[in-house]
Amino acid sequence: MSDEKTIFKKIIDREIPANIIFEDDHCIAFYDVSPQAPVHVLLIPKEEIENVAALQLENKELAGHLLLTAGKVARELGIDQAGYRVVANCGADGGQSVDHLHLHILAGRQLKWPPG
Ligand code: AMP
Repeated sequence: MSDEKTIFKKIIDREIPANIIFEDDHCIAFYDVSPQAPVHVLLIPKEEIENVAALQLENKELAGHLLLTAGKVARELGIDQAGYRVVANCGADGGQSVDHLHLHILAGRQLKWPPG
């Protein structure tokens, strides 16, 4: 991981603006700047972890907290009844462009499978 702050770390540190919809001691959720669905929210840990592949056993609680929070955010957004998708792109072939772990929460249209 490079020493330079990622765009998400800058959002956590309030150095650049974001449309934040949820925050607690461990994570923060905000709208994606380039939405791929009518609802597209990113949920990120405040701790700097590169991606799913970089998670360690010591991150077990945080990883669980992120998933539980994804469900909570979805309920608060009112998308839980119709359904939604939670995606974590990991590495180059996974399509990851920001090297800070994040869950995409996508909803508001029928999402296709397999993904492109
Ligand atoms: P990924 O390609 O999985 O790494 O996802 C990174 C996501 O971050 C993309 O969907 C981008 O649109 C989104 N993104 C990049 N910069 C910002 C920003 N400043 N505010 C909100 N979302 C952003």
